[in-house]
Amino acid sequence: MKWNVDTLLKGYFHKATVEWGQPAQMLVAVEEMAELTKEIVKNLNRGKENEEEIIEELSDVIIMCLQLTEIYGGQKVEDMINKKLERFKARIDNI
Ligand SMILES: [Mg+2]
Repeated sequence: MKWNVDTLLKGYFHKATVEWGQPAQMLVAVEEMAELTKEIVKNLNRGKENEEEIIEELSDVIIMCLQLTEIYGGQKVEDMINKKLERFKARIDNI
C-alpha cells in the first residue's frame, strides 16, 4: 500500500482546510467515521454482505484522517504512529 501522502498533505488537504475551515473538516471526519461504523455494524449484527460499502467508507475515513493529519501536523502524527507501531510490534513479538 503506497499513497502519495506528502503531495496531498502539502497541497490539496491544506487548501481544503483553508477553503472550508477546520471545524467543517473535523465534522466531515466524524460523519465518515459514523458511516463506517454503520456499515461494520450492519455486517456484524445483521450478517449483511457489504464488503464494497465497508471498503468505500473505510476509504473515506482514511482520507479524512489524512485531512486531520494536515490540521494537527504531519510530523506530530507520524511520530505518534511510529511510537504506537513500535509498541504494537513489541506486543506481537511477545505472543
Ligand atoms: Mg462516506
